Amino acid sequence: MDALDLNPDGYGGTYKLVGGRPSLDFVNTISWPDTEREHDWLALPENARRWFAAMELPFPRGKTVDVAPLYKARQLLTRVLRPLAHEQTVPEAALAELSKAVAKAYQSRAIDPRTLAWRWPEPSTAQDALTPLLLDAAELVTAADHERLRYCPSCDWLFQDQTRNGQRRWCDMADCGSRDKARRYYHRTKA
Ligand SMILES: [Zn+2]
Repeated sequence: MDALDLNPDGYGGTYKLVGGRPSLDFVNTISWPDTEREHDWLALPENARRWFAAMELPFPRGKTVDVAPLYKARQLLTRVLRPLAHEQTVPEAALAELSKAVAKAYQSRAIDPRTLAWRWPEPSTAQDALTPLLLDAAELVTAADHERLRYCPSCDWLFQDQTRNGQRRWCDMADCGSRDKARRYYHRTKA
């Protein structure tokens, strides 16, 4: 898995798209959450634009875009998706907030008179740009089965296991997977 070209701003690690779903990769824009190594990849607004481009999601054009709504939405999606991946109960308040945000996003949808298909407007604010992420999260929550929604036992990044055998354990074999392998090898040889 290749690292995404985000400005690390002095941080030693890399950011990779491991989630398999845009809302999970969005939650993963915080590395090592709730640890001393925690790093927010979207702390630099320029990274927000690069992230949306890498996801092939529309982002407002203007040079100065207020990215504050991104942080708020990421916090909300984390409150919903992390417990879901950990097979814990999702707080009702968070679900209510997600429902409200999705309902609001739907208000901007319109039928294109030429194609007769639903069309989303070009985003003019960061809040608008969040729509596909909110919808993706809602789809994950309301899916019949959450079995393939997982978290990395090493770094807590979230991902959807899309492997055929459903045995994916790590965010990335090259990072957390190999770290674990090395650790196990070390313990074995020490004993
Ligand atoms: Zn990991």
